Amino acid sequence: MKIVAAENLLRANDKLAAGNRQRLHAAGVFTINVVGSPGAGKTTLLEALFARLRAQLRPAVIEGDLAGSIDAERLERLGVPVVQINTAGACHLDASMIATALEQLDLGQVDLLVIENVGNLVCTAGFDLGEDLRLVVLSTSEGDDKAVKYPAIFQSAAALVLAKMDLLPHTNFQPARIAADYCRLRPEGQVFETAALEGRGIERLAEWLLARRAQAAGS
Ligand code: MG
Ligand code: ZN
Repeated sequence: MKIVAAENLLRANDKLAAGNRQRLHAAGVFTINVVGSPGAGKTTLLEALFARLRAQLRPAVIEGDLAGSIDAERLERLGVPVVQINTAGACHLDASMIATALEQLDLGQVDLLVIENVGNLVCTAGFDLGEDLRLVVLSTSEGDDKAVKYPAIFQSAAALVLAKMDLLPHTNFQPARIAADYCRLRPEGQVFETAALEGRGIERLAEWLLARRAQAAGS
């Protein structure tokens, strides 16, 4: 019985996510869902990305956290419109939360919507939010075995962003190992090596996102 309830929950979520996607596409908004563990470097990556992309397009953020608004405040400081969702204990965002958050954004003024999910590599994988693509962020301090241990989230992500590459010399992390595991799960997936605090790797990621957005707009 419990399994049926979970399936129904996910089906209901998929329906709401499809509605979000339709609404975002109608407004010409390209949406990415950024997932990763707590502390992977998601917000720092976004700060660097927005600094690079803001001249070309108008970003907005939906920020998911269990509590507080520390990350939202960081991104607001860049002048980016941010809607904070506090999940009050829930360990992932779902499509209904996004539908509610979209009410608070002027979508006509947004080209790129970034959803920073709750830090979690597990159940974020099962919840479509209505995004165009998923980015999974993994830092060098987390270990290169994570694609083997959490395959669902890696399989669902169009790109793997390796964060904190500047710390690599202090770890036994092997970028080639995680890249190989990820590409087995997602053969067409892209891998980006970044060190956001130094601005390293941000240009390549930004160019790829712009290309994916152009592709989505043209299709
Ligand atoms: Mg964050
Ligand atoms: Zn969860």
